[in-house]
Amino acid sequence: MNPQFTLHETICAICGSKENSTELYKANVTPNDFTPEIFSARRLPDKIHYRIVRCNNCGLVRSDPTIHSNILTTLYAKSIQNYDLEVKNLTDTYFKYVQEAIKILGIKSIPKAGFLEIGCGSGFLLEKAIEYGFGLVLGIEPSVEAVNKSSAHIRPAIICDMLQPGMLQKENFDLICMFQVFDHIANPNALLSECVKALKPGGGLLIFNHDVRALSALVLGENSPIFDVEHTYLYNQNTIGKIAQKHGLKIKIISSATNRISLRHLTHLLPIKQSIKLYLLNKLKNTVFGNFVISLKLGNLFIIAQKP
Ligand SMILES: [Zn+2]
Repeated sequence: MNPQFTLHETICAICGSKENSTELYKANVTPNDFTPEIFSARRLPDKIHYRIVRCNNCGLVRSDPTIHSNILTTLYAKSIQNYDLEVKNLTDTYFKYVQEAIKILGIKSIPKAGFLEIGCGSGFLLEKAIEYGFGLVLGIEPSVEAVNKSSAHIRPAIICDMLQPGMLQKENFDLICMFQVFDHIANPNALLSECVKALKPGGGLLIFNHDVRALSALVLGENSPIFDVEHTYLYNQNTIGKIAQKHGLKIKIISSATNRISLRHLTHLLPIKQSIKLYLLNKLKNTVFGNFVISLKLGNLFIIAQKP
């Protein structure tokens, strides 16, 4: 085995316990799986995962052991973005929650408000935030390929990196968002602590990601695409609340989320054989049926939490 792919034990990000956990699934990942393709946004789900455990103290589900987060930085930097066709639906889905956060947090003056998205991809949501009139718009994205796809006027608003300590100015943002990002983070406490520092008092955090206790995850079990090497921690509505509270954030709402999705992208997510899926995706390409958009609960949750 390549020595850099030595696996390391992880700890529960809520209570810090290492041992006190129950194994849910055995690992099926091999050293050959650590490629930028595997760590790319919205690739075809391939069910490769680490050993999955659940903390007996607080119920947080995590990968254990995993590779070191330094290697992740390299993999994400070289990762590929695979969601061009779905950008409009993702923007509509995510911006609905941004608007809900604006309302719930009571952000009065949008031109004076700061908006930060961590893991902004090609910056499609930043474009929407600028269009909406946010006074300050910033994105952070480690994938060079994704950032290169951003429009010329968005590019200066993106820092191409992982979020590093001290990178963000203190008390600068009214809203910090993460969409399908937080469960990829190997050290969520370090990230949340940076977010809390960067939020203005009264500002808030909006996190949208998989719900490990959603019906789809319970029904599919180990076949659920959420059990994936890209996910270090997997949250449910209870554990996402606990980790936010651990950082002094006040929970305003935690609920299941609805996605707007095309039938083509829904096919992409279906837990069916890869060969059948590729056949169907090819058939649906550029068809009215494939482009048909529906609203659906896809097993995601969202939380809006406020800095006092
Ligand atoms: Zn725990």
